[in-house]
This record gives sequence, C-alpha cells and structure tokens, in this order.
Amino acid sequence: MKIGVFICHCGNNIAATVDVEKVAEYALSLPEVVCAVTIEHACSEPGQNIIRQAIEQKGLDRVVIGACSPRIHETTFRKLVAASGLNQYLLEIANLREQCSWVHEDIISATIKAKELIGMAVAKVTRQQALTSGKVGVNQRTLVIGGGIAGIQAALDIAEAGYEVVLVERSPSIGGNMARMDKVFPTFDCSACILSPKMVEAAGHPLITLQTYSEIESVSGFIGNFTVNIRQKARLIDTKKCTGCGACTLKCPVKIPSEFNLGLDKCGAVYIPFPQAVPHIPVIDKEHCRYVLNGKCGLCQKICPTGAIDYEQEDELHEEEFGAIVVATGYKQVDWKPYTEYGHGKYPDVITSLQYERLLSASGPTGGRLKCISDGREPEVVAIIACVGSRDELLGRPYCSSVCCMYSAKYAILTHEHLPDTKVYIFYMDIRATGKMYEEFVRRAQEKYDARYVRGRVSKIYKKGGRLILQGVDTILGQSVELEADLVVLAAGITSSSGAIKLAKKLNITHDQYGFFTESHPKLRPVESSTPGIFIAGACQAPKDIPLTVAQASSAASKVVALIGHEELETSPMVAEVNMRRCVGCFRCQEVCPLSAIQEETLRDGTKVAKVNAAVCQGCGVCNATCLPGAISLKGFTDDELLAEVKSLCDVK
Ligand SMILES: Cc1cc2nc3c(=O)[nH]c(=O)nc-3n(C[C@H](O)[C@H](O)[C@H](O)COP(=O)(O)OP(=O)(O)OC[C@H]3O[C@@H](n4cnc5c(N)ncnc54)[C@H](O)[C@@H]3O)c2cc1C
Repeated sequence: MKIGVFICHCGNNIAATVDVEKVAEYALSLPEVVCAVTIEHACSEPGQNIIRQAIEQKGLDRVVIGACSPRIHETTFRKLVAASGLNQYLLEIANLREQCSWVHEDIISATIKAKELIGMAVAKVTRQQALTSGKVGVNQRTLVIGGGIAGIQAALDIAEAGYEVVLVERSPSIGGNMARMDKVFPTFDCSACILSPKMVEAAGHPLITLQTYSEIESVSGFIGNFTVNIRQKARLIDTKKCTGCGACTLKCPVKIPSEFNLGLDKCGAVYIPFPQAVPHIPVIDKEHCRYVLNGKCGLCQKICPTGAIDYEQEDELHEEEFGAIVVATGYKQVDWKPYTEYGHGKYPDVITSLQYERLLSASGPTGGRLKCISDGREPEVVAIIACVGSRDELLGRPYCSSVCCMYSAKYAILTHEHLPDTKVYIFYMDIRATGKMYEEFVRRAQEKYDARYVRGRVSKIYKKGGRLILQGVDTILGQSVELEADLVVLAAGITSSSGAIKLAKKLNITHDQYGFFTESHPKLRPVESSTPGIFIAGACQAPKDIPLTVAQASSAASKVVALIGHEELETSPMVAEVNMRRCVGCFRCQEVCPLSAIQEETLRDGTKVAKVNAAVCQGCGVCNATCLPGAISLKGFTDDELLAEVKSLCDVK
C-alpha cells in the first residue's frame, strides 16, 4: 500500500495555529505512508497539480488530505483523485481547520491534535475499500411548495426550461404576502401590477399545475425520486363548474374577519380572497358556513347560476412523483400582542405593518382611504415603530427582520401621497438600507417627504383624550419623548410561516430555532437544503425582501433544472448493507430508517431478514447504530474502519 498525505496551510487558516511541517513529518513516520507534503492551498489549481503529480509519480493507491471540512471540498478532492486514476473512495479528509486550527489558540496543542487527526485518517484509509456508484433514474417533474412570489418565480423558471411543475399553495389563492402590498420599495411599483401578471402566467402555463387550497401530507423517497401525498382541501365548490362570477359571495348572511385583509374588515363564509386572486374561485369556510354547521341557509347554492356549490365535497388525497422539490413557504409576522408596552391589542388604532399595507391599498378594506380604524377620521399623526419583536435578545429574537427600515421609509412616502398634511414619525434603532438604491430611498423619505426619525424604542402606549400617547426616549438627544398620534404602525418582526417545523419533518430537512429552513452551506450552497434534491427559496430561509427572494427562487430553479436535466443520477455507494447471516429479523432498522429504505427479504428457508434498497439509502447510518446483532454496516464507515481510527488515537503519543 502506498499512502500520500497532503497537509494544507489554507493560507494562515490552518498554518497560523498548526505547525503543518511537523504534522507532515509525523505523517511520514506512519506505516504505509510514502509521501507527506504541505501545500499552500490544496484546493487551488497549483495545489491540486501537486497532489495529482504525486499520485501519478509515486504510484499512490490511497490519499489523505488534511484541510478544511469535507463539507467544503470533499467533492473537489474526490474528483481530483478520480481524475488521477484512483478510486475516489480511497480518499480520506482530516478536518484540520474547523475541527482544529479554528477552535484552538495554542500551537503546541493544536499541532498534537492535528497529528492525531491525520493518524486517524491514515488508519482509516488503509482499511478503505474501492467503492462504485450505481445509477438511478430521475423523475423530471418538480414540486414547488408555497405560491408566494418565491414559489411562483421558481415554478415559472423551471417550466420555461421545459419541465413540468406542480405548485402547491395552502391558501385559496397564490400570491403570498406580496399580494397584500400596496407599493413596493425600492422602485415603488404597484405590487399587484408586477405580481398579478406572474400569477396569471403561472396559472396559464401549460407546464404548471396549480394546486391551491392544498397541503403536503407526507413525503418519501430521495433525490430524483420523491413520492408526495397531497391533500386537496374541500373548497365546497366544484371548480369545473364555477365561473368565478362571485354571485355566491354577495348574499352570505355570515360575516367573518377577512383573512386576506388581516381582520380589518369582514367577508362572508363564502368568499373570493381578493380581487386579483388566482384562481378566481370562491371557497366556503366550513367552520362558519350555516349550511355546513346546521343544514340551514343554503343561499349561495340557490344563487349560483352554474350549480357549483357542493356542500358534500370532501378532502381528496392523491399521490404524485417528483424528481425535485422547491420549498417556498415564506413567513408570517411575529405576534406582537404579548408585548405589554403596545397595549396588548386593546387599541384598534395600533396596527401591524401588513395591516397598514391593506389600509393603503386601493383594493383594501377602505378602498385606499387612509383613516383611523376606531372612528374613521383621517390621522394627523402616524407613528411607525420599527423592530417590534426583532433584534431583541430579551424576547428571544435577536435577528433583524431585514425589511422594516425600508418599508418604514416607504410608509412615510405613501402616507404623504395619501394625506400630504399628515406627519409621520419613525421610531428606529439603526437604519439598515443595504440594497441597491436603498440608502437613497430612505434619504428621499427624510428629505423630500419630511419623515421624522426618532432614534429609540417606545416603552409605552396609552390613550388620552381620544389620541394615542407614545412614551419613549430619543437616544440621540438623550431625553425622553412623548408623542401624540392617531395611528400607530408596528413593524412586527418576521418569523417562519405556521407549520414550517412540521413541514421540515415531513421533508426531512433541517431548520433553525425560529423555524427558518437551513441551507446546506450558507456560502456555497445557499439554496440547497440539507436533503439532496430539496431546495429552499425566499423568506422561508430567512427574512428577506422581494429582489432577494426572486433571485433566490431563480437560483433554486436553475439548480432544479441542472438536476432533472439528467435522465439518470449516480448514487452514492456509501450506503448501508445487511449481513444476512447475522440479521435476526427484528426490523428495528426498518422502524428507524427515515427514508423507508429497508425492505423485508424472505430467504429460501422462510426466515425474514432486512434488505437495504441501495437506491433509496442515503447512508445516514441510523440503522447501523440501531442494529443490535451488528448485522448492518455502512460502506465507507465500517466498524473496522472506525475502530482503526479509535485505535490510532489511543496509540498516538
Ligand atoms: C409589512 C411588510 C412590507 C413589505 N414590503 C416590501 C417591499 O415594499 N418591498 C420588498 O422588496 N419587500 C417587502 N417585504 C418583504 C416581502 O413581503 C417578502 O420578500 C416576500 O413576500 C417573500 O416572498 P415568499 O414567497 O418567500 O413568501 P410569502 O410571500 O410569505 O409566500 C409564501 C407562500 O407560501 C404559502 N405556504 C406557507 N406554508 C405552506 C405550506 N405548508 N404548504 C403550502 N403553501 C404554504 C403561503 O400561504 C404563501 O402563499 C415586506 C414585508 C412586510 C412584512
């Protein structure tokens, strides 16, 4: 056996804390190691050339690279090893950066640890076997979950590339939160004017199937081959007969708070969510419909000219196959009512920023007339409070909502456009306007539209003489402030959409403590989830504005197209395998397998044993760790290989 060890300096990332020359010297003393060299940047072209030449000239048959985490460059080095004529699985990477130099300061101890890591990698690689990948077919359809601007954009891009897309949206219409907005920063476009054409295009695209009022029930399978159960919730409307005339919505005697207008007005139990809804078809709210509740009423059925009302309709479940999934489930605003300082929701004129969008919108509950909720008078003073439930460690939300600085400036301009004499005060912490033309936008609000910025938080709101009094501190002037306002807009923070964590479990993707889905690598794989074949786009990953959302959606779409553009995919050979002679048929492995990759196999004598479907297995190792008789092993991480690592660690002096 001839092992070559290559230690990367990674600039000063490793070399500043680890004595790389000493580590190479140590590596050369290990059995079977015939060459050990240090390289400035192993991943660079000159660095890769050094490794390639060593493999060829010294006839190496095993390679150990001490560098950064395999998460960053494992693929790069595997490709290099394969291009040099070796089996790519005869490579082991010792993580000398994230697991050593970056987490230690003392050179002597870090160098000892680096030697240990290299020793373990050498011990493991000596036992490694050449592995070969298999092939699996790829389904060329894509599922997009969430029909906000992110989901719509991703669906359109994938469909434009010539692939079929199913867009599943849980509410009755696509459009997401952008559909609620009046005008959008930084360009001040009318939101509906730029969103509606996309909604209509998605609905009419021959390769896109919209499944609104639907949710994901379960997901199984793996990259290229996902099986998804979709629940089509009963609208109680026969969508084939409905023409969207809206007659049914006119006479409903029930009045419920409109979800789309965020409770600012009421709609019937049968309603079309908003004028530009796609599809333009009503839905009956089963929890409030009198006919559904007690069999009385039935007015909408009598009025409907096409007989489309169907009170007996039930949810339908259907199963579909996809090669890739894009998750674009967006965000919701943080519930501000528990925060005592803003009045717990007891003042009708203290509203959220999304409600303010609806108040400003011509299609909103007041037809675009800006007025107080309590008594309908035009507000003389509007106060906007930024960072409500954001950037606040005490409330457990230290992160920035990323859009409230910008939309607060937008509101100053929009308010002025609606009521030129109304004064706008913005209570803020810092102004974060980092996008293209964003700083200029904020300046315009300040200089041209006279937005009055007060740096500081509001500590209390109370009512006096029919007006709202805001108490706080101006931290620039260092003095307390008291402001009388008629309408207070809370820029409530952004959190993941309801049910995001449950969805993550169904999809087997990771999320952070706030429920935002986490990317596979924040810098290098920003739209790939932790599960191959599942991509994330838009505000479901983190709060973000529309330009970034659209860019991320297009990026996810291009990744999808690159994936489903292949008819077959190489499967990783690092999968579990069962030693049938040891298997006792307890099937604990089957219970724990997150991908249902373990099947039952009946031997000739009738005994049942476990068998791994190598095309489905992703090599997570859960079955391996669960198997009591030790019948399952994971290729590339066999007991023999792992024990050799442990033994080497115990042997290091
Ligand atoms: C008050 C306010 C004002 C803003 N103003 C601007 C602005 O002027 N300019 C700007 O650039 N940005 C603005 N933004 C940011 C903008 O709203 C977001 O960038 C954008 O809406 C993100 O789009 P999205 O598709 O990722 O998410 P969303 O718009 O939230 O859409 C997500 C969609 O997924 C659906 N969904 C959720 N869960 C599921 C599920 N489990 N199954 C199926 N469907 C599901 C939802 O129903 C929704 O339709 C503002 C944000 C706020 C809060």
